[in-house]
Amino acid sequence: MAYSYEAPVSQSLFDRASVVTPGGVNSPVRAFRAVGGTPRFMVSGAGPYLTDADGREYVDLVCSWGPMILGHSHPEVIAAVQEAVSRGTSFGTPGEGEVALAEEIVARIEPVEQVRLVSSGTEATMSAIRLARGFTGRAKVVKFAGCYHGHVDALLAAAGSGVATFGLPDTPGVTGATAGDTVVLPYNDLDAVRAAFAAHPGEIACVITEASPGNMGVVPPAEGFNAGLKELCAANGALYISDEVMTGFRTSKAGWYGVDGVRPDLMTFGKVMGGGFPAAAFGGRGDVMAHLAPAGPVYQAGTLSGNPVATAAGLAQLRLLDDAAYAKIDAVSAELRSLVGDALTQEGVAHTVSAASNMFSVFFTDRPVRDYEDAKKQDVFRFTAFFHSMLEQGVYLPPSAFESWFVSTAHDERAVERIAAALPAAARAASEATA
Ligand code: PLP
Repeated sequence: MAYSYEAPVSQSLFDRASVVTPGGVNSPVRAFRAVGGTPRFMVSGAGPYLTDADGREYVDLVCSWGPMILGHSHPEVIAAVQEAVSRGTSFGTPGEGEVALAEEIVARIEPVEQVRLVSSGTEATMSAIRLARGFTGRAKVVKFAGCYHGHVDALLAAAGSGVATFGLPDTPGVTGATAGDTVVLPYNDLDAVRAAFAAHPGEIACVITEASPGNMGVVPPAEGFNAGLKELCAANGALYISDEVMTGFRTSKAGWYGVDGVRPDLMTFGKVMGGGFPAAAFGGRGDVMAHLAPAGPVYQAGTLSGNPVATAAGLAQLRLLDDAAYAKIDAVSAELRSLVGDALTQEGVAHTVSAASNMFSVFFTDRPVRDYEDAKKQDVFRFTAFFHSMLEQGVYLPPSAFESWFVSTAHDERAVERIAAALPAAARAASEATA
């Protein structure tokens, strides 16, 4: 595909990066490989806008993949960071900020009685499944195809066909032994979960699921799915782990738990709670968390866990996220969803705008999408054309058809108008695209 616009400074940075960093990026999806073209190297962000190294401004619908729920450079978050950083950057001792952040999480999310802070969502899910295994004395983990829980070895197994099939390593470097303890099932299929428990009696430590998946595009749980998981786990002595790294503190004040009210045994958090810094967490039932070192035998630790600057940023951000903030984000999301849907309808492009609270994505198919297999059947080439047209017109979308779009409280009328103005041409590009 040829692109009619250029980004020479980004391209030269990407060339330099590609010499010293594999693929030129520090996280694969940033490389634009799914859509082609030059990844934009951003130099600053303000409110709903990002500015790249070529001086072009974009309305940002990625929001750092979720964390920037107040927009970029929110003055109160920046002030909290500056205040914290002026006192030092890391002490390797306990500090008040991490207590306050833990208290804020526990206060918002009722099933979380205790919480341990870590530095990334990957660490949170890795630690939660270790704890589940330590607590239950069992080895197997059930996960769902299309759900992403970070690059934890045991959770990268996403392949596997049919009920209770052992996952095969999806990536070299994950051993068969590691993946062999992971049972990968189709999403939204309670019968498959029932069959897995029947096939592995007394062996399954936990079922981990995205509270509402956003990593195969947005595919919300079918009515009763999460409640069914919880019930099956309870009946079989396994823990139900709800991964709220993406949904936590975003889909409501209490994340997806605030939407469906299904009580997990353990939960994982990241993104929003770090205010743009590396902070994440896992928490849940007090009797389970009591198994963690130093209170219990399951080891888990981190040099920078509960870092004072990261906790200050996260706490400042969470404290600003009141009911009015969520109402605003929900309203902007609803408006964008209808604008995108209308533009695609206008051009006769088959599509489904799929939403879970204020998270949403567009599938380029009009068939229902209930799991990863459905999501993969969309016309990805239409997304690619749509993406590049939006980019050219100054709207930054996730560079993949399988990612959620994110909005913030900073997405005001002017930002929405800019998106609205870009949509007709992007919809036309999608309609004219060929495979
Ligand atoms: N869990 C979910 C649901 C995620 O969306 C992600 C990242 O996108 C992770 C875990 C991993 O988090 P991190 O990238 O901070 O390691």
